[in-house]
Parts: sequence; structure tokens; C-alpha cells
Amino acid sequence: MINVENLHKSYGSLQVLKGINTQVEKGEVVTIIGPSGSGKSTFLRCINLLEVPTKGKVIIDGTDITEKNTNIKKIRENVGMVFQHFHLFPHKTVLQNVTYAPIKVKGISKSEAEKMGKELLARVGLADKANVYPSRLSGGQKQRVAIARALAMNPEVILFDEPTSALDPEMVKEVLEVMKSLAHTGITMLIVTHEMGFAREAANRVLFLDGGVVVEDAPPAEFFTNPKTDRAKEFLEKML
Ligand code: ADP
Ligand code: MG
Repeated sequence: MINVENLHKSYGSLQVLKGINTQVEKGEVVTIIGPSGSGKSTFLRCINLLEVPTKGKVIIDGTDITEKNTNIKKIRENVGMVFQHFHLFPHKTVLQNVTYAPIKVKGISKSEAEKMGKELLARVGLADKANVYPSRLSGGQKQRVAIARALAMNPEVILFDEPTSALDPEMVKEVLEVMKSLAHTGITMLIVTHEMGFAREAANRVLFLDGGVVVEDAPPAEFFTNPKTDRAKEFLEKML
């Protein structure tokens, strides 16, 4: 479903991605791990064109999104993103955060969007928060709203960039639980995370990035018990 071929990204003279090749099947849950600065965020951001690749291809459902005449709006509808710092609209209620894009971008009626929005909020355990503003929520609740908002566009793919890194420890679990429940729905998920337990339990595959390349690509049982490279071994020793 996602085909990444020889993906390069530079910022000026700084080469960040140096030829990433990977394929993600529909419904797969792929965690991306690696040291800080290895290019994990840049890689995710190239998949929904928040960054424009310097070279190489990203093919989603047969469409090369790096082509010049690509419809960025359509891609972003199909590829949702959840950020470390939530990025909720502060002046909209929780429900308005969830319904805004479906109404504006997809042209869904307000009543239909609200019905769907309430269902999604119930799914992330926030049915009772529909009418409050984000400032009233804990970090874990904000992130669950951000997940509901991403789901509201009914994307085929959701990208998560360190979704629990900004949370107090006691809130990490509630967000990971929501993500685990999504992992069973057939949606395709790419998740940058430092939560090794989550990667081990919930992912189909682990991509280990270092220095802008995929150094290892393996099922978690294999990666965590028998990493092949010294770089991965060193990384895991620090993490576990
Ligand atoms: P990671 O998410 O693995 O920590 P990033 O993809 O955020 O890594 O960053 C990889 C490298 O690219 C870092 O050296 C970072 O400073 C640099 N970088 C990221 N975004 C930009 C940008 N917009 N402009 C310039 N340099 C950037
Ligand atoms: Mg990052």
C-alpha cells in the first residue's frame, strides 16, 4: 500500500534521509525507532508531504505523491497525522476539533459530522468531553482527541510522531491503549515511538533508523531478541 523507494531528504546541505526503501502493507502496524536526529520525523513527514522529498518516490495506493501535479489535499485526507504536541485548535471545543475538517474539507453536513464525531469521541473514551475546550483536558485526553480528529477523516493511514513523548508517565498508557485498539481495525499505522513495550506488543514490524537509512527491518520478536547490527544493539541497551 505504501511503497518508499530511494527516499532522500536534505535541508540545505544537511542530508537527513539517505535512501530509504521500504514497503508497508495495508493494515500493517509499523513502529519506527532510532536515535534522536536519525530522521524519523522527517521520514514520516515525507509520507504526507509535510516535507517534500529531495529525491526518490513515495507511492501510496499506486499514486506517486512526489509527482509535481499531485493533489496534496487528497493525500492529507487519506494520510492522517498525530503529533507529539497534539496541535488541537484551542478556540474550538473538543467536538468542533473533530468535526472541523470533515465539514470543511469533505463537505459532510454538520449533523452527520457531529454524529460521527461523538462516536469517535466515545471510541477514545471521551464521550463526556465533547463540549469542553482543550485547555480543560489533560495531555492524555488531548492526545486522544487528536487521534479522534485524525480518524474523523476516515484515512487509510495514520502517522504518529512520538504521540506519548510529551505526556506525563501516568497518561502514556491510556493513549497507547487507544492506539492498540486501532491496530486491530485494519487501518495502516506508522508510529515513531520510544515505547519499546508498545513496539514489541502492538507492531507487526520494527524499522530501526540510524543516520537516515533503515538499518534493520524485522518483526518485533526478532528485532528485540536478536538485533543484527551493533548500532541496533547499542540503541536497545540504552533503551531497555
Ligand atoms: P528524529 O525525528 O529522528 O529525531 P528529525 O527527522 O527530526 O530526526 O531530524 C533529523 C535531522 O534533520 C536533525 O539533524 C534535525 O536537526 C534536522 N532537521 C529536521 N527538520 C529540519 C528543518 N525543517 N530544517 C533544517 N533541519 C531540520
Ligand atoms: Mg522526531
